[in-house]
Amino acid sequence: MRKPVLAGNWKMYKTPAQTRAFFEAFLPLVRAVEHCEIVICPPFPDLAAAVEAVRNTRVQIGAQNLYWVKEGAFTGEVSGPMIRSAGATQVIIGHSERRHYFGETDEMVLKKTVAALEAGLMPIVCVGERLEQREAAQTEAVLSSQCRQGILGLDSVRFSKIVIAYEPVWAIGTGKTATPEVAAEAHAVIRCEVHRRFGSAAAENLRILYGGSVEPDNAQALLAQTEIDGVLVGGASLEAASFAKIINHQA
Ligand code: PEP
Repeated sequence: MRKPVLAGNWKMYKTPAQTRAFFEAFLPLVRAVEHCEIVICPPFPDLAAAVEAVRNTRVQIGAQNLYWVKEGAFTGEVSGPMIRSAGATQVIIGHSERRHYFGETDEMVLKKTVAALEAGLMPIVCVGERLEQREAAQTEAVLSSQCRQGILGLDSVRFSKIVIAYEPVWAIGTGKTATPEVAAEAHAVIRCEVHRRFGSAAAENLRILYGGSVEPDNAQALLAQTEIDGVLVGGASLEAASFAKIINHQA
């Protein structure tokens, strides 16, 4: 049984004061939740406020990026040990916005994943095709290549500690969600690559989240797919009631 992960990616939204206000509203709504892991990934300046707010709850806090060197002359970067020492336990890696606006490659994604694991963080590693790639029937090839050039370069022990998020770029922030069937098909492609590289146990144990315009009214159908082991939610995670609805599967 794979325990679902329901993660929120706040992108570049909210101040520490807004973070505290979010958790005041959110925590009572998810207090009884046991069926999944809940992760919120705020911007770096909000990590301390978020970690403090969720103390003694089951909610976990993640960062949205890291650099693979532990410390040094890398202005503007933040390392895994720094994130861990701020109290976060997860980190998103290779989000399509990082790949497309900041030039992250699969090779960098692999280095970041190793660095996150060495710092004791659980990586949530994103892959996904662009619209023109889907329209050109390249989805399978793109996903396979992103996996092979990136995270399949881990050893099996490290690989067992990561979560993958399938996020089709055309669905992120656009209101165009993949249908549950389309998402499940893509997850199967990823799982098949993992099976080929690491065998059946690794493939069966791997949690693959779907991300891309998940909202309270489509989450339930997506999460009903056995291939979908959770969701990575952007816009709808910014509002306590809507993210809590997704978690509680109340459409
Ligand atoms: C994301 O940022 O990972 C995401 C999926 O965003 P949205 O839910 O807003 O499409």
